[in-house]
Amino acid sequence: MAQVQRMSRLMIKTLRDDPADAETLNHKLLVRAGYVRRTAAGIWTWLPLGKKVLENITRVVREEMDAIGGQEVLLPALLPKESYDASGRYDEYGDLLFRLKDRKGAEYLLGPTHEEIFTQVVKDQITSYKDLPVILYQIQTKYRDEARPRAGVLRGREFQMKDSYSFDTTDEGLIEAYQLHRAAYIRIFERLGLDHRIVSAVSGAMGGSASEEFLAPAPAGEDTFVDCPACDYAANTEAVTFKATPADGSAHGPVEELDTPDTPTIETLAAHLGVPASATLKNLLVKVDGEIVAVGVPGDREVDLGKLGEHLAPAVVELVTAEDFEGRPDLVRGYVGPQGLEKVRYIADPRIAPGTAWITGANKPGTHAKNVVCGRDFEVDDYLDVVVVEAGDPCPRCGTGLKLDRAIEIGHIFQLGRKFADAFQLDVLGQNGKPVRVTMGSYGIGVSRAVAALAEQTADEQGLCWPREIAPADVHLVAAGKALQTELALDVAEKLGAAGVRVLVDDRAGVSPGVKFTDAELIGVPKILVAGRRSAEGVLELKDRRTGEREELTVDEAIARLVAQG
Ligand code: ATP
Ligand code: MG
Repeated sequence: MAQVQRMSRLMIKTLRDDPADAETLNHKLLVRAGYVRRTAAGIWTWLPLGKKVLENITRVVREEMDAIGGQEVLLPALLPKESYDASGRYDEYGDLLFRLKDRKGAEYLLGPTHEEIFTQVVKDQITSYKDLPVILYQIQTKYRDEARPRAGVLRGREFQMKDSYSFDTTDEGLIEAYQLHRAAYIRIFERLGLDHRIVSAVSGAMGGSASEEFLAPAPAGEDTFVDCPACDYAANTEAVTFKATPADGSAHGPVEELDTPDTPTIETLAAHLGVPASATLKNLLVKVDGEIVAVGVPGDREVDLGKLGEHLAPAVVELVTAEDFEGRPDLVRGYVGPQGLEKVRYIADPRIAPGTAWITGANKPGTHAKNVVCGRDFEVDDYLDVVVVEAGDPCPRCGTGLKLDRAIEIGHIFQLGRKFADAFQLDVLGQNGKPVRVTMGSYGIGVSRAVAALAEQTADEQGLCWPREIAPADVHLVAAGKALQTELALDVAEKLGAAGVRVLVDDRAGVSPGVKFTDAELIGVPKILVAGRRSAEGVLELKDRRTGEREELTVDEAIARLVAQG
């Protein structure tokens, strides 16, 4: 017996117009179709239909987590400060944390993610290697004071996350738990009907070693990734690496100085010489752990400081200031060239390949040099891919021009290693009776964000359009309005419910058929069954919400069809 939900008794108010503050499709449609209601910035109420969708996603996530042996627990969201002091994250999180005090002045936070508390739980509960490995998970509310809560439930300040944590004694065990999660995530997103890509990611604040993101391509997404139109290569823009192609540099003439007054920038230089910016070599000076380093990239490209920082971590990268030039006559601001920079480490983008010739600074005010050949006139100390990736850059795997696409991050898997185990001295007794430090993984899925991602990927001009497993009902039965039609609709609804089909039946009196049809399209249940004109003959119209295909069926045929789909 599945639920028959009568719209006459459902708390729902659909809106014809987009809410004024909504910028993205999912925000507009989820509010207009009555799934969610904004309570405060980034804080949402889940209305009856929205709660059903959220539950459906939760169920899929739970089933697949259970299938890999995950044990579900529920930790508190209100957490003691001390645990996050132990890991250093109470301070590291900065403004992102909601911090609060109790009546006695003791300090707490609202959990943004739970590595610390899970580590403490396992330290308390597990003492021997015999009780490992374990995978623990929860589906719970998280709190982050996001700088820009936007796009409805896509980026909330309060949101639902599935977070799981693996605990192992060996590195192989961690890799196995990671692979189990990876496979479970693929199954989850396939069942949810979410188009997704797995891209390698940089692990950021978590300090982990291996990490991948699950991205759902959608224009409303806040992440940019590269996607190869020809092969299956996809990566976070920060993880793309370009392959160098050495050139034959022997044909170039000797270095020649050019009088280029007032040309300290690439734009002024290219305009003065009448050459494309790509013919010039731009040298950015940065400080790496306090030491000045030059970074060379083609003049038409930008340095991605985030990427540079990732490559050089844990060294700290800073931009140079005017003071750094004091006492350094070798560094001529605006006219730096790698030829003659003996005392400075030279990092270059792979595009500055051996044998390539450049126009670059001559290390004299107002002067540049041409025919400066890599490998002949200067040496590169380290090749690092540090430019901002652009559409059309060659795919590292097959060379085809890459596309840049927007996506929503729906999941993230990390091999954390021993960072948290070290912070909490999480050891278990090993096989030889000696303590062994535990190694951990952490794995998240944005459960409430998945609602928004699905809405983004599946909606059309008429409204939402859910995949069946996630939809708030299997069929939306519309009684066009007359008493006979309503009677038939309720009768069919009951039969469908008895046969296990979830029904939303629009039995509202005094609502025009036009409004009911528009609402059905907006709400987005995958099948729409109409008790209309031919109700007296026992003939209904079945419409597919996605394709718009319609056919007339007898009551028995319609029921048989919908039951068979289940
Ligand atoms: P983002 O870069 O989007 O802020 P994150 O890297 O901070 O995400 P994680 O800490 O890895 O995210 O959290 C795990 C998952 O939780 C994410 O993959 C995402 O799906 C979801 N998530 C993170 N922040 C939010 C938020 N503010 N609202 C809704 N879901 C979120
Ligand atoms: Mg975040």
